[in-house]
Amino acid sequence: MTKKTIDDIDVRGKRVLVRVDFNVPQDDDGKITDDTRIRASLPTINALVERGAAVIVMSHLGRPTRPDPLYVMAPIADRLEELLGRAIAFPPDSIGPDVASMVAEMQPGDVMLLENLRFYPQEEANDPDHARALASLADVYVNDAFGSAHRAHASTTGVAAYLPAVSGLLMQRELAALGGALDNPERPFAAVIGGAKVSTKLAVLQHLLARVDLLLIGGGMANTFLRAQGYDVGASLLEPDLLDTARELLAEAKKRGTQIVLPDDAVVAERVSPDAAHRAVDIAEIPNDWAIVDIGPKTQALYARALATCKTVLWNGPMGVFEMAPFAEGTRAVAQAIADSGATSVVGGGDSVAAVEELGLANRMSHVSTGGGAALEFLEGRTLPGVAALDDA
Ligand code: ADP
Ligand code: MG
Repeated sequence: MTKKTIDDIDVRGKRVLVRVDFNVPQDDDGKITDDTRIRASLPTINALVERGAAVIVMSHLGRPTRPDPLYVMAPIADRLEELLGRAIAFPPDSIGPDVASMVAEMQPGDVMLLENLRFYPQEEANDPDHARALASLADVYVNDAFGSAHRAHASTTGVAAYLPAVSGLLMQRELAALGGALDNPERPFAAVIGGAKVSTKLAVLQHLLARVDLLLIGGGMANTFLRAQGYDVGASLLEPDLLDTARELLAEAKKRGTQIVLPDDAVVAERVSPDAAHRAVDIAEIPNDWAIVDIGPKTQALYARALATCKTVLWNGPMGVFEMAPFAEGTRAVAQAIADSGATSVVGGGDSVAAVEELGLANRMSHVSTGGGAALEFLEGRTLPGVAALDDA
């Protein structure tokens, strides 16, 4: 179901409450180390400002359950001012009479950032009275927090019961990119799925199997599939409980005519440590006490050839233990192949996105999702409560 966006409503002269995901990483001094999430919602905030709304921005930061000086929004307010190039109002709370009177002073085009939403436990509990108190600040609710849309909290779903509720531009872009790939892909359509475990990606694998033409599997999860096919995987990460599930997925793929491709070779290491001895071996020759830590060069080439033929590529999960430089080559090669394929490319998942960013290839992808857990739940085919709560178009 498509949802209304800020383009479907008139916000002139209105007070607009915008849920963003400004849950950015900070160092020990509170300095923001990556402001991608703040930048990602600037188009929505700027559009509302240009259209004559008074814009009240709200977010959570970290996981406090009461006011906590370590999680105040002040550093985010500073960065937002810098990025917007204008002063913003920054009340010391997210609800209450003081906030309300500051809101009452706002003029069209003004921007305010509320204090951390999680200073109230009622936020996570999706308390209706709390949601009503937030909603009372504004005339319209905009949700631009794709990264929080898989959570049903007061600010992500609760407020939508009390106000006209529409999606922001980032939310709209995320839904269009991820939804477009899943529902209306230009074919051939490939998914590259990696990461540590089958168990955390089972629902994604099942949902994608029914949609893709080609499923390339890498990362630790490939080990369970390889073992299911009878290969010895030595001391590699393995989920013995999921061997039957892996066999079922392979059978299901065969029945559907979906091609699942598994690694031909692997980089194995004596220990999962950056300074451990390591080498590439064929999948049939994994040494007993060694662990698979990356796809090998033959597999890199195989996956690159397959990806070069695709028109749509969805990628979730690194091909190896990419946090350790010697084991990042497989992930690098796949990222490069996706970039070079010219396919519509969508990357989702916290570690996958970190990997393409570290590799400097993020701008070569059609879409890099800002939602880690939310993107995964979307790829599982689940309805995100923060999306469901918005008004239908
Ligand atoms: P995402 O966050 O993109 O969804 P995951 O969280 O599923 O990805 O997987 C990322 C993790 O998988 C990384 O920490 C990486 O080290 C790990 N990983 C990838 N390949 C292997 C492997 N062969 N053995 C152990 N861990 C692996
Ligand atoms: Mg992860």
